Amino acid sequence: MTFDELGICTPIVNVLKKQGYKTPTKIQQETIPSALQGRDILGLAQTGSGKTAAFAIPTLQQLAHKKVKTHRIQSLILTPTRELALQIYESFQIYGKQLPLKSAVIFGGVNQNKQVKQLQAGVDILIATPGRLLDLMNQRFVDISQIEIFILDEADRMLDMGFIRDIHKIIKYIPKDIQTLLFSATMPKEIEGIVDTLLHEPKKVVV
Ligand code: AMP
Repeated sequence: MTFDELGICTPIVNVLKKQGYKTPTKIQQETIPSALQGRDILGLAQTGSGKTAAFAIPTLQQLAHKKVKTHRIQSLILTPTRELALQIYESFQIYGKQLPLKSAVIFGGVNQNKQVKQLQAGVDILIATPGRLLDLMNQRFVDISQIEIFILDEADRMLDMGFIRDIHKIIKYIPKDIQTLLFSATMPKEIEGIVDTLLHEPKKVVV
């Protein structure tokens, strides 16, 4: 199986080759074609499986192929920690190097001014931890009412870290009937509840 066969566009395939990626991982093979068609995804996968590329590539490609370029937030990726947020941001920067899309990352524990400046300059893709996102939403620096692709990464870890109430608050501001990709290593009851509310006939991928 090659990256081209998954339907990935040339500007992204070129970058993957430059990165030294030879073949797609299992989760990438099973996720990318369906996600590119706009389907919801429920991925039961751990870090190290290649799941970041499995959600970043379809997000970048779908947004890049839209005709109107506005630099308003069209995709939101929620992840539990600053480290994960930064890693995901870097992945979006790399895979999207040849695409006209802007990504930004926000997380707590640091002064917000730089993050606010980035947001004000216009952002297509926002990677965030829940607390800082809510904080900046409350201050009206972030508007997620126009997003089209929502990704919840490491959902079970969010639960362990006590973010479940924040997640529910954030979900209220997300438009209905958008594409959602949810990744979790395990499937506790509370996450099953979120899956039932957010995902519509998802493709389930277990690796
Ligand atoms: P992740 O599970 O998303 O944290 O990715 C784990 C690591 O695998 C990251 O360092 C990626 O750069 C790398 N990676 C992702 N997909 C591939 C691939 N198809 N071939 C080789 N390495 C990959």
